[in-house]
Amino acid sequence: MTDCLVENARIVTDAGLQRGSIATEDGSIAAIGPDLSASGADAETVVQADGMVALPGAIDVHTHMHDAGLFPDDIDIGTQTASAVAGGVTTVVELPTQTPVTTPAALREKRARCEDRAHVDFGLVAGNFQDGDVDVEGFLEAGVPEFKTFTAEPYRADDAAILDLMTEVGAAGGTVRVHCESQAILDDARARLDGTDPELYPQSRPLEAELEAIGRVGWLAEYADCPLHVVHISSGSGAAVADRFASRANVPVTLETCPQYLAFSADDVADRGPFLKVNPGLKSPDEVDRLWQAVRDGTIDLVATDHFPTHREDRERGWDDIWVPYAGLPGVETMLEFLVNEGVHEGRLSWPRLLELVCARPAREAGFFPRKGSLAVGTDADLVLLRNEGYEVSAEDLAYNGGWTPFEGRTWNWRVDTVVADGSIAARDHDVLAEPGDGSFLPRGPRVSTG
Ligand SMILES: [Zn+2]
Repeated sequence: MTDCLVENARIVTDAGLQRGSIATEDGSIAAIGPDLSASGADAETVVQADGMVALPGAIDVHTHMHDAGLFPDDIDIGTQTASAVAGGVTTVVELPTQTPVTTPAALREKRARCEDRAHVDFGLVAGNFQDGDVDVEGFLEAGVPEFKTFTAEPYRADDAAILDLMTEVGAAGGTVRVHCESQAILDDARARLDGTDPELYPQSRPLEAELEAIGRVGWLAEYADCPLHVVHISSGSGAAVADRFASRANVPVTLETCPQYLAFSADDVADRGPFLKVNPGLKSPDEVDRLWQAVRDGTIDLVATDHFPTHREDRERGWDDIWVPYAGLPGVETMLEFLVNEGVHEGRLSWPRLLELVCARPAREAGFFPRKGSLAVGTDADLVLLRNEGYEVSAEDLAYNGGWTPFEGRTWNWRVDTVVADGSIAARDHDVLAEPGDGSFLPRGPRVSTG
C-alpha cells in the first residue's frame, strides 16, 4: 500500500526537470511516473505538488550538532536535526567538536546519544586526531571510515602526526578530512592586528593560510596514499590548489565548500559583524566569484554547511569584542534554500548541478549511495518539495532554536514546502513533524572511489 503520493511535481533529474509523481511504500520509493493516480489511489497521504520542484532529501556531510561538553543543553542532535529536516536536509554527517571521538568506545557512546534524539538519519566522523595513534580497524568495524584532523588550533596536529594518521587510514581504505589553515600564518596575522572590531576578523584568517595548508596536506595525502577530503574551502584559489591534487588522481581528493563562502565576502562584515565570524575567514569578493565558478564547473565536488549552532545573545557579544564569541555559523536549515535561490534562481547553477552538489555526490562520497542521494525506485523515501514564492529570510521563520541566521534579510524566491523522510511527512513550511529518534545511525564501509 502507498504511504505517500506526491502528485505532479517537477522532478529534478540528471537531465533537467521532468514532470511526474512519486509513490512511497514502507519507507522506500515504490514508483515514479507521469501519472500514479491509479496505483496510488489508496495512499495514506497525498501531496499536491503542482508547480513545485522535487529533489531527493539533501545530505549535509559536515555538521557540528552534538557536544555535551561544549553546547548549551538546548543545542544537541535533537534540536539541530529538527532544524536540518525543516530545511530539506534528511541525512547528516556529524563531526566531533570539542569532545574527542578518538576511540571506538567514545564513538559508540556518541552514536547511542544521537540515536535517541536524531530526527534524521546520520553518519559519524571520528576525531579530532592530534596524533597518529588510532584504532582505525576499530572505527571501521563501528561503521565509521572517516577521520578528522586539523592543521590549525584548537585541535592542531603537526605534520608528522597527520602523516601517521593518513598512512594508517589510507591503508585501511578510510578517508582523512582536514581543516586546512596554516597556524604560523594565522599567528602572524593576528599579532599584527590591534583592536576588537569585527572587521578585523577576516584579516586574522588570510587567504595564504588556506592555500599553504591545502598544498601541504595535499602532498602529505599523496605521499601517504590516503584519500583526502578538504573541508570548507573558503576561496576560489583554495579550490584551484586542491584541484591540483584531485586532478593527479593518485588518490581520491574531495573538495567541499559551504554556503557562507559563496554568499558573503569580507566586505559584508561591516554590516553583519559577529554574525559572520567563521573559520576559515571570509575572503575577497573576487575569491567569492572564483569559488562560484569552481562550484559551477565541477572543481568543487559538494556543498556542506559546517553547521555550528550558537545563540543570538552569545553572538551579539562580538559587536564589542570580536575575539570573544566562538567562530561558526548555523546553516543546515538554509543550505538548500540558499543554493536554490542564489545558485539556480540567479542563473549560477542548473537544477542537475544542484542535485549533484547536495544529493548525489555527498551520498557517494559519504558512502550512502545508492540508498540516499537519488529519487530512484527502491531507494530511501527522502525527498523535498520547493515552492516558488518571494519572501524575506528571517530567523523567526526557521525551526533553528539559536534565534539567528547569517542570511537574515536576504530576499529569496524559493522556499522549502514539504519534506518527506522515510516515507512520512517530516516537515512543512519549516514546522517539524518528525520526532526525536526517527533518525537512524548509518554505518558506512571503507571508501569506494568515485573519481
Ligand atoms: Zn567543521
